[in-house]
Amino acid sequence: MSSYHDVMQVCLNGHVSTARYNSNPHSRKNYCISCEERTITNCQNPECRALIPGDVIHSNIAILGGFGPVAPKICDVCGQKFPWYEQRKKADEEYIAANKRRAEEEKQQSRLAALKSIEVTVQGHGNVINLGSMVDNVISNSQKLSKAGEEGVAEALKALSNAIERSSALVENEKKKYLEQLTVLSEQAIIPENERLPKSVLQPLISFGLGTLGAASDLSQVWSTWEPVLTGFFLS
Ligand SMILES: [Zn+2]
Ligand SMILES: [Zn+2]
Repeated sequence: MSSYHDVMQVCLNGHVSTARYNSNPHSRKNYCISCEERTITNCQNPECRALIPGDVIHSNIAILGGFGPVAPKICDVCGQKFPWYEQRKKADEEYIAANKRRAEEEKQQSRLAALKSIEVTVQGHGNVINLGSMVDNVISNSQKLSKAGEEGVAEALKALSNAIERSSALVENEKKKYLEQLTVLSEQAIIPENERLPKSVLQPLISFGLGTLGAASDLSQVWSTWEPVLTGFFLS
């Protein structure tokens, strides 16, 4: 049971021809098939000339292939940069930048999805859900908020959803519309502030969406009590 480090053959631009130069002689290439540059198997420091390490071979099986072979940036014996150092460094930076861009795009996407749900809400669709389950949803989010120490907004969401459900001044469809808006707010409340919809979207939802609650005879009191709490939490 012996294991040894095979040798890597790399073109001067950093493309790996093979990570098993010795154990797989057929994979050797004098010139790169990607860019046609010539290939090397040694450190280019004339005083070093160390072999570039390839796969670890154990009993004829490569056990360290990794995620497709990637050429090292520097020689691990003398520390000299390989000829492809700058290309690799640039590629690494581009990779990191692309990942950042993708994360930013995903965040935008989830914001757009949340915006869509508000549009649907404001237009009053989605009336198939029953009132009780909508209240349960808001209350379960408000419980999460209490646990996170946000007692004020938790109380506001709970009190408003209960009052809307019990109101005799609102008809069923109005109740659903308001509860949908509270659901959106409660979902926004439980996510970190920097991931929430912009205030320019939340503000009209509170002022012109839920804000019309103040006109319902048996809700004007409860709305005027909790409106400042919502405004303080979401808009300040
Ligand atoms: Zn190449
Ligand atoms: Zn070296």
